[in-house]
Amino acid sequence: KQKRAHNFSAGPAALPLEVLQKAQEELVDYQGAGASIIEMSHRGPEYTEVDRQARERLSRLLGLGDDYEILFYQGGASLQFLMVPYNFNTGKTADYINTGTWSKKAIKEAKVFGDVHIAFSSEDSNFNRVPGDEELNFSGKGEYVHFTSNNTIFGTQFRNEPASDGLPLACDASSDFLSRPVDINRYGVLYAGAQKNAGPAGLTIVILRKDMLEKARSENVSSMLSYPTQVGTLFNTPPVFGVYIFNYVLEWIESKGGLEAMDRLNQQKAGILYDEIDRDDFYAGTADKASRSLMNVTFRLKDEALEKTFIEESKKAGMSGLKGHRSVGGMRASIYNACPQASVEALVEFMQEFRRTHG
Ligand code: PMP
Repeated sequence: KQKRAHNFSAGPAALPLEVLQKAQEELVDYQGAGASIIEMSHRGPEYTEVDRQARERLSRLLGLGDDYEILFYQGGASLQFLMVPYNFNTGKTADYINTGTWSKKAIKEAKVFGDVHIAFSSEDSNFNRVPGDEELNFSGKGEYVHFTSNNTIFGTQFRNEPASDGLPLACDASSDFLSRPVDINRYGVLYAGAQKNAGPAGLTIVILRKDMLEKARSENVSSMLSYPTQVGTLFNTPPVFGVYIFNYVLEWIESKGGLEAMDRLNQQKAGILYDEIDRDDFYAGTADKASRSLMNVTFRLKDEALEKTFIEESKKAGMSGLKGHRSVGGMRASIYNACPQASVEALVEFMQEFRRTHG
């Protein structure tokens, strides 16, 4: 018999069971086509319809108007670290907010092409928080303001879009994409690897405002790296399987009530978990309370020597993926959209039991 763990993996992460089952059912014969969707031309009618549906659903969920373009890419968020400055900051200046490992990687790539102004950094406090607007210090000559909306490793998240000095926001939303509504008109470019909230690894979603395309680098460009080459056409073979699953994840989000409903559920799940962490000093959250992530709940045991036992026993109790990122240690429960509240409740019960037996 097949058995699913309470899966707290940071990514690739749990997907809705309904989506997996639907894909399983269709994998050998896609809706009577006699082949699966990953065995047919990406320019044929079947995939064309999948692509159309995914774009339509995503536009509906985010409220994207005609002034936005959607790209389905490969190369992960890591390629977007490069493509954003390649297109918009070659020989110019851009402002970056440094709130963790992924922000730093984005900054490193941006420096290859242009000047980078650091508008804020929480590196001094081991990235335990995100800034308030009053802490942001802009260059006054930037092309965009880049931020990481959710810091997967450190368990921090922006509550709202940061101030941007009138500039378009460029956002790495990999680990909270579609987890809540966003003020989309503030974004010039928003990108996310699919493998946390949206689908399998191998698909990256990029949302671009059209006025940005007019400003994109146009001379001496490499086609694969140039946003203008990619919009409105399938320049090369898209990540077919990723888009196919993504389309069903979008359908699932819509069936649950959309992004407002996701936000409510996510607040509820994270609330239950943080309440348990804050109950006494047996557990300790690592992020500043005001910056806590609803997606990646990072915590330690007061007695750090017990953490190994915690992870081992959690596995025996049917839970996976709770070990913190190797660069920070401790524990991390990733509770993206598809993580059911029942899994969070099971984790809380396990934490209570662990406190009873080891406290
Ligand atoms: N940004 C964030 C916020 C992430 O969490 C990750 C992956 N953990 C990345 C970027 C890197 O994504 P990819 O591996 O898809 O390039």
